[in-house]
Parts: sequence; C-alpha cells; structure tokens
Amino acid sequence: MHKLNADDQKGDIMDKIGWNFSDSFTVLPEYLFSYTEPTAVDNPSWAVINESLVNELNLNINHLRSDHGLAILAGNKIPERTSPIAQAYAGHQFGYFTKLGDGRAILLGEHLTDKGDQIDIQLKGAGKTPYSRGGDGRAALGPMLREYLISEAMHGLRIPTTRSLAVVTTGEQIIREEALPGAILTRVASSHLRVGTFQYVKQFGSIDELRQLADYTIERHFPHIKDVSNCYLAFFKEIVERQAKLIAKWDLVGFVHGVMNTDNMAISGETIDYGPCAFIDKYEPTAVFSSIDEHGRYAYNQQKPVAIWNLARLAEALLPILAEKKEDAVHGAEALLGYFSEMYQKEWLARMKAKLGFFEETEVELQFIEDLLNLMEKYQADYTDTFRALTLDDYGRQEWFKTDEFNEWFQKWQAKLSAQSQSVERIRELMMSYNPAIIPRNFRVEQVLDKAVEEGDYQPFNQFVAVLQNPYAYTDEQVTYAELPPETDQPYQTFCGT
Ligand code: AMP
Ligand code: MG
Repeated sequence: MHKLNADDQKGDIMDKIGWNFSDSFTVLPEYLFSYTEPTAVDNPSWAVINESLVNELNLNINHLRSDHGLAILAGNKIPERTSPIAQAYAGHQFGYFTKLGDGRAILLGEHLTDKGDQIDIQLKGAGKTPYSRGGDGRAALGPMLREYLISEAMHGLRIPTTRSLAVVTTGEQIIREEALPGAILTRVASSHLRVGTFQYVKQFGSIDELRQLADYTIERHFPHIKDVSNCYLAFFKEIVERQAKLIAKWDLVGFVHGVMNTDNMAISGETIDYGPCAFIDKYEPTAVFSSIDEHGRYAYNQQKPVAIWNLARLAEALLPILAEKKEDAVHGAEALLGYFSEMYQKEWLARMKAKLGFFEETEVELQFIEDLLNLMEKYQADYTDTFRALTLDDYGRQEWFKTDEFNEWFQKWQAKLSAQSQSVERIRELMMSYNPAIIPRNFRVEQVLDKAVEEGDYQPFNQFVAVLQNPYAYTDEQVTYAELPPETDQPYQTFCGT
C-alpha cells in the first residue's frame, strides 16, 4: 500500500480534489470496525465517473479525474488525513442471524460537504478485510456498473438511496463461475449504519454501548429529536417512518429490492445494496427475480411485511434502551410497528392518487384503485407503461386497453377526474411528476451492461444513465427507452454477492 509520496503532496493535492474527511465512526466501540487498507490493484482504469455527484460533493472534477484521483478510487493510494476502516455488523439473512461486516467494502472516510453534510465515501470491491469470511473482497465489473446505473436511476426517481460516484476497473480478473473483469465502485451514503449494526451491538456489546450507538446515530441522522423526552422511542419512530415511506416509494415504481436482509436495511432510510434488485415489467404482485430467493421471501408484495419483520428485529435490539421497564419498551415498540402500516398506507395512497391525477383534497376510494390493479394483474399489464399511458392519453402499446373492463374503469376515472376543479393541464402535470416515463427496464439494463462489459463500449450505458437522471421529464430522447420489453418465456433472473 502506497501512502502519498512527497511529490504528490506538493501543492496539497488532497485539497485540490476537495476531500474533507472526518472519522466520527471511530469514536464507537472498537469491535465495531477494523482499520483496513484497500489492497492495491494491477492496472486501474476509469469506467464511469459521476460528474454531477462530484459537483454536489464539492469535489474538483479535474483533479479527481487525474491519475492521482484514479489511484485513490482504485485503492492504490490512501488520501492523507484519513484512516480507512471496514465496519462490523450482523444481520438476519433470509431469516437466519449471522455475524457479518464489510467483507469487500472499505470506508475511506466521512466527507464533509460545504453544506455541512457528512457523507460516507466507500470503496466496494477494494480487497479483503477481517470480515471477508473466505471471500476475495473483490467485485466484478458488470454488477458494479449495474449498481451504479440502478442507484442513480433511483435517485432520479426521487427515492432515497446510496449513490455511486465512480466505477474503476482493476485490470485484474476475479474468479467466479468464470473469470470476470474486476472493478471497484465508489459508494456514497449518508451513513452505512444498518439494522444489523444495532443487532451486532445488542449481541456482542453492553447496554451503554447500545445507547452510545443510538446517540451517535441520532446526532448524525435525527438531530432534531436529540432533546425530546424518551428520545430512543422517538428514534425508533423516525426509523419506522422513513422505512415506511421508502418501501411505499419502491412499490409505486415497481422496484423489487430482492435481498432485504437486516444488514441491507439502512437506518438513514436510504435504499442500500443493489445486488439482485430489478424492476417489474408486467404487474405481478408475487414477482421475484433473485435466483436464490426460492420461496419468494423478498417478493414484490412481501416488501412491506418484510420491512416490518426487519424493524421488529431492530426493536428487539433496542428494547433495553427504549424504556426502563421491559413491558413499556415492548408496548412502545409494538405500537410503532403498527404505525408502520399506517404510515405506509398514507404515503402509498397519497402517491397513488397523484399517479392517477387526483389532488390531495379529492377523496378516492381504495376499491377504485384496487379495481385497476386487479385488472392490471389479470391482463398482465405493463406496470410503468400503464401509468404512462394514462398520463399521456396514449394507449398504443398494450392490447388490454381495448377490453371492455378497462373501458368501464376508464369511464369512471374520467368522471372522477372531471369532478375536480383543476384543469386538464394541471392534472397532467401532476401525473407526469409521479409517473416516470422511463425506468431502468431489465432488458435495457442487460443490453447496456453487455456493451460496456463485453465490448468496452460505454456510450449506451452513459446515455441510459443520462436519461434516467430525470425520468419525469418526458423528453423525446426518452421515448425509445419507454418501449416495452420484447416478449419472452424466460423469466428475468438476478444474482447477488457477485
Ligand atoms: P450482500 O449480499 O452484498 O449484502 O453481502 C453479504 C455479505 O457478504 C456482506 O457482509 C459482504 O461484505 C459479504 N461479501 C459479499 N461478497 C464478498 C466477497 N467477494 N468477498 C468478501 N465478502 C463478500
Ligand atoms: Mg449487504
């Protein structure tokens, strides 16, 4: 591992890139992390770099793009004034409790932006750590580009998510079922605190340490509740609320996370861990894409109950600090788990109404919405295209719009819409801002990844990422990306941990 040599430091290169690292996580109990440096790679090279995120983070694009910047994001050089760590955590994976940790991710530091945000800059695929458990600590180019693309698409969809600053190739092959080109993704997150981080301290630490972790998290993510009485219950409530809103947003764009283990649920309320995720094309409530999810534990329509299950595991971890008496703690936690459904439903309904062109003050019966969803299921309607068609009044892409059943629902819908006082234009505007014209459709994702990975042609990838930055724009260049996938009998499958 090379530290910066004297030449590199001339003119303070670090400040030229604009890193402003802190290391607040290391105030926590030492069993929660290990100082770990990335393992240098043979021959790093740029794959993609996210210029708009570089700017948002107040980093200098020219300096980051330099060989020096590349060396840092490849793990070949460690920026001055930072000590990289790998974090420990636990998690329920498919229901089973396991001791885990960053097995292939290394936190370079917590970057402080001009706005005062504290952002984790993490290298994913940067080599072995004390938590690698026999894994190689590496990542393949295809999955890292996939995470880059989908996380940026989620951001474009206005769904809280970790982001992707860059992908660099390592010049090394990694061995999976076949040899694959290695890569490192720079993941950007408001933190990497997980449900599993709390489970870890509950299991291996003391109650004081649990309180210390909660205080740290409150300071970092929920400073407004610092001084409320019984702040730990308020803390749990905040987490529940953010998760409820997050899952409602996923469901409303047809996003299936695919591996909602408790280590993959971020306390910040950001979507994290883009392994086997995918978007539904046809509306199928039981959709599952992940090859290892044999029993559909993380199916599309299970995301809400699974989130509650995960939060129940978090509540168990937090019980000792939620109240003085155990029964009060249990009672408080249970009430808040019930509150999840209420929050989810409120968020879901408000957004679904907007998708259908109804303003806040308009009452819409749930049955009316369910009627549409039932028809969509019956006719295997394309989820995104159905709402796009309703938005644009353009029913050209799907045959089921010609059915009497759709027409009947459509007439009722029109009547309800015209009972509103808002103009047709305002209704369309509302619908356009809640119904994406495009999503990262699976077949397109595969196409652009193939081009990039197999042929080194990044143009289709970059163009797709560009249009996904604003999926609500309804621009001409988005039209081709809104096309339906070709008919196929092959169910789409995704893989994790690759
Ligand atoms: P994930 O399915 O990506 O959430 O990963 C689950 C756990 O396996 C995490 O603790 C990862 O750090 C670890 N892991 C995944 N891939 C590797 C790898 N190639 N080498 C070491 N650890 C890994
Ligand atoms: Mg994970």
